Amino acid sequence: MEQFRGFRDRELAELLTKRIRELEPPDPVKICHVCGTHEWTITHNGLRHLLPENVNLIAGPGCPVCIVPAREIDEAIWLSLNGTTVVTFGDMYRAPGSEISLEDAKSQGGEVKVVYSVRDAVEMAAREPSHEFVFFAIGFETTTPMNAVEAERCPDNFSFLVSHRLIPPALDALAEMDDLNLDGFIAPGHVSTVIGMKPYQKYPEMGMPTVIAGFEPLDVLMGVYMILKQIEDGEPRLENEYSRAVTFEGNVKAQEAVARVFDTVDGAWRGLGSIPASALKLKEEFSAHDARLRYEIDVGPGRDVYPGCSCPQVILGKISPDECPLFIKECTPEKPKGACMVSREGTCSIWAIEALL
Ligand code: SF4
Repeated sequence: MEQFRGFRDRELAELLTKRIRELEPPDPVKICHVCGTHEWTITHNGLRHLLPENVNLIAGPGCPVCIVPAREIDEAIWLSLNGTTVVTFGDMYRAPGSEISLEDAKSQGGEVKVVYSVRDAVEMAAREPSHEFVFFAIGFETTTPMNAVEAERCPDNFSFLVSHRLIPPALDALAEMDDLNLDGFIAPGHVSTVIGMKPYQKYPEMGMPTVIAGFEPLDVLMGVYMILKQIEDGEPRLENEYSRAVTFEGNVKAQEAVARVFDTVDGAWRGLGSIPASALKLKEEFSAHDARLRYEIDVGPGRDVYPGCSCPQVILGKISPDECPLFIKECTPEKPKGACMVSREGTCSIWAIEALL
């Protein structure tokens, strides 16, 4: 064998693909991941083409920008147009609300700044104490600990518009959807470094093989292999392919920081509706930094889906992006119509970039 070339080693990939093919199940199998980075690895390395025909690898709601309801983007837009500076990440800047995006709001006179981290936003607010800043806090469990830390020390002129969502409740919802007929989960590596393995223990008990996987091509192929092996054994288990980064307990300090600052509440997911206990809200002692309590935000119920856009079906893995009639015609990464085309982690954007290369 050639020298090991890391988690992209071609010879190992071929060997693993051979092992996967040996495990080809007699009936079609549908494996779901919920991570934009997994989808990026799968699509840009052509991993689906390596799998047996009856093994279908689908992308679930793994993009933290795509699942923020339009109404919550409308709230950020309202804030930017009504005297506060909204600070957010680049992907969120372009995500469509009911009518316009934050980018559009800026061109209409809204105050919007793009940052790489919440720390940058807090420092910005500290430099201008006479001005009000709102951080549009989106993301899954990977990004919440940083926001929790900043909530405990941010200046008085800083507040959060919290749109965080949690991955395990979304997996619960997917597992319970009869028409999805899932046969296994590939759990997200980044999120799992924070939450550990514990929250996934229930899925094998529900009959769902579950493997936490890393983001390199060999990680994902190994994750598929481990799930197919569990299916062949007829014994659903929770396994950790990403043991070089994920522990059973996860990052306990990060979990404690989140628990000190946030309560868990029901939350709406764009195109999916409400999922119980899937969102976060600042605890009462941090209410002075809760933008929804600090300002009288006046927006309507929100329109999540652009006419003709199939994002809800894409987010659930019911269709692939190229089955949407607008895909790379009316809807492109440069001119997105739906939220799934905006972020680098959106399934439509990932497929479009691959198709347009
Ligand atoms: Fe929506 Fe565009 Fe994706 Fe179609 S291609 S589902 S319009 S984001």
